[in-house]
Amino acid sequence: MPSHRVRALSLKKTKLGETDLIVTFLAEDGCQIRAVAKGARKPGSRFGGRVEPFTVVDMLLHTGRTLETISDAEIVTSHAAIREDYDRAQAASVVADFLDKVSVECQTEDRLFALACATLDAMDGAEDDALLALVVAFLLKGMAMHGYRPQFDACAVCGSRAGAGEIRFALELGGPACEACSGAGDEAVWLSGDARAACKALMSAKMAEVAELGVPHGVLAEAFGVMRAFVVYHVPAKLKALGMYSAEVLRATRE
Ligand SMILES: [Zn+2]
Repeated sequence: MPSHRVRALSLKKTKLGETDLIVTFLAEDGCQIRAVAKGARKPGSRFGGRVEPFTVVDMLLHTGRTLETISDAEIVTSHAAIREDYDRAQAASVVADFLDKVSVECQTEDRLFALACATLDAMDGAEDDALLALVVAFLLKGMAMHGYRPQFDACAVCGSRAGAGEIRFALELGGPACEACSGAGDEAVWLSGDARAACKALMSAKMAEVAELGVPHGVLAEAFGVMRAFVVYHVPAKLKALGMYSAEVLRATRE
């Protein structure tokens, strides 16, 4: 059987048969890989915690008739502190679920893996109040890599500069539309001047610097709501983790 080595991030595991798992990965080149971990659900399996979601592994894969099989997996980064904390795990699940839904087999996207690792590295040591900022920054950058780069300063159709302060963010266009360009049926959400500035700052910040921006929770919650609507509009698959996280954000905002 042909075999090859690959570095990849575990996104999701699904039960297969009595003792096996199918693990969905994002590979270093941005392609999605689904591979079988044989006997991974048996006690004392050699896979142990190596294919748990959020773990980065170096694997040896064998190509079978239908699915690939993992014959060896070494941990590169375990991100164990994410799995040990409820809030971190909720935030990281949004990242993994998004990557699961937008990545495709044999479709490379060079920057996606680096973004995913930088986001999870930051979440691994993040305080609770930084997690929402990291989720918003990830969704902004992730959507840009997925082909929907959000804009906040210029009309998304003609490029004329938008005024200062609040904008109407058109979901289909991924940005404001000027009066001449906006259609009557455009689905749009309001974005306040503060949340607009926060989105721009999060878009350009490195993941390791996101926590230092110190964006207030209320502003982040608004930016998150707009980004969630933007993601849901353009990603046809149901993002369960995003929905659950949204409920958490709403609850925290009311408190
Ligand atoms: Zn315009």
